[in-house]
Amino acid sequence: MTSRPKVRALVVGAGIGGLTAAVTLRSVGVDVEVYERARELKPAGGALSLMSNAVLALRTLGIDLKLEEHVEILEQLHFRTKRGKLIRTLEFKEICDRLGAPSFGLHRAELQSLLLAAAGDVPVTLGAQATGYEAGADGVRVRFADGSEAHGDVLIGADGFNSAIRRTLAGPETPFEPGYVCWVATPHFSHPAIPKQYGAHYWGRGRRFGIANIGKGQVYWWGTKNMPAEQARDWQGTRAEIEQTYAGWAPEVEACIQATPPEEITAFPARDRPFLERWGEGPVTLLGDAAHPMMTSLGQGAAIAMEDAAVLAHHLKGAEDLPAALRGYERARLARTRSVVAAAHSLSELEQTERLTQLAGRRLFFTFAPRSVLDKQNIDLLDYHAAAAAEVTP
Ligand SMILES: Cc1cc2nc3c(=O)[nH]c(=O)nc-3n(C[C@H](O)[C@H](O)[C@H](O)COP(=O)(O)OP(=O)(O)OC[C@H]3O[C@@H](n4cnc5c(N)ncnc54)[C@H](O)[C@@H]3O)c2cc1C
Repeated sequence: MTSRPKVRALVVGAGIGGLTAAVTLRSVGVDVEVYERARELKPAGGALSLMSNAVLALRTLGIDLKLEEHVEILEQLHFRTKRGKLIRTLEFKEICDRLGAPSFGLHRAELQSLLLAAAGDVPVTLGAQATGYEAGADGVRVRFADGSEAHGDVLIGADGFNSAIRRTLAGPETPFEPGYVCWVATPHFSHPAIPKQYGAHYWGRGRRFGIANIGKGQVYWWGTKNMPAEQARDWQGTRAEIEQTYAGWAPEVEACIQATPPEEITAFPARDRPFLERWGEGPVTLLGDAAHPMMTSLGQGAAIAMEDAAVLAHHLKGAEDLPAALRGYERARLARTRSVVAAAHSLSELEQTERLTQLAGRRLFFTFAPRSVLDKQNIDLLDYHAAAAAEVTP
């Protein structure tokens, strides 16, 4: 009896989603090749929160990145007024304990190196900018900007917000830009109000600030400010503007900015896209931000990309009909990702609001909402198994 030759998967993009796909697909016996536009693997955007749902999803394939041995566990998240007065604390630890998997705050470089280690011998070709693909009876061919090509049985577009694979599939689209900028940085710095495992959001009017102690002497901070979309898209301001934006806020907020050399602050425009209902055709599919970019408000973009990678591997494991397996993966992910994208969008609107009635409503809700209501909102996001059980199966 002849067995089917190993499936050859081309993954375009070596971000969090693409590298996780390399790990998960390899774990189910798929031959993976990763193609990345950048000439050097340098993660953009400082740090991130990586929630329990990503850990739980990887575990379904027996993959454990052992994050707790390397990075800080997120146990609580404080919501504060801009001057630092406590509004509410979310007890993450209890929720994560219930779910059996921690959540983390970590530097992107740390996650990237753990994923690369777990990807083992998967080849990652740098300086390979995909421009499009052609699918045929013999699989799929990806074209690169330098004129070269790669051929595989399936193609996974994990090339982020401006995905070339998505563009080939869905045509040109206009992003949604609500009109605010997000500054991020990870200075080496300590402050008495930022103890180990500290995580907090400070809320202002049309602006907010976040702080997380990510260990190893580093603090992750991010701040947002409403401004015209075209200005946010290409913010060219100075650190003085950022200092001004948060002048009079809690002392630890001001201290974070002052501790950061201006060249270490990165600015991102806030943006997402109308939800795409069709992620693939034939041997091609999408994953992560390429499939479902979302606002950063829930801190879930990376974790949901990792969930995608786990579910994709389950569908491709031992599959004979590869396009059918990819359509199964897409069907399985649509409801979950659609709801998380929508929730992130709504939260982003509420967080950036300048309307006094909404500001008052936000404060009242977070002050008085029963703990069970807040816990349920978090469990809905973090409980990967419940989300997977609700997935539409073929
Ligand atoms: C400011 C900010 C804060 C965030 N905070 C969090 C957080 O706390 N928690 C969280 O879970 N998520 C967070 N996110 C979201 C998270 O970063 C993304 O959802 C996640 O990185 C998506 O991973 P991805 O692999 O799909 O895309 P990316 O990480 O964007 O990776 C795409 C990769 O594809 C490459 N690429 C692009 N085009 C091509 C091409 N044509 N050919 C080849 N390669 C290409 C890129 O160079 C990149 O390496 C945040 C995002 C931002 C902007």
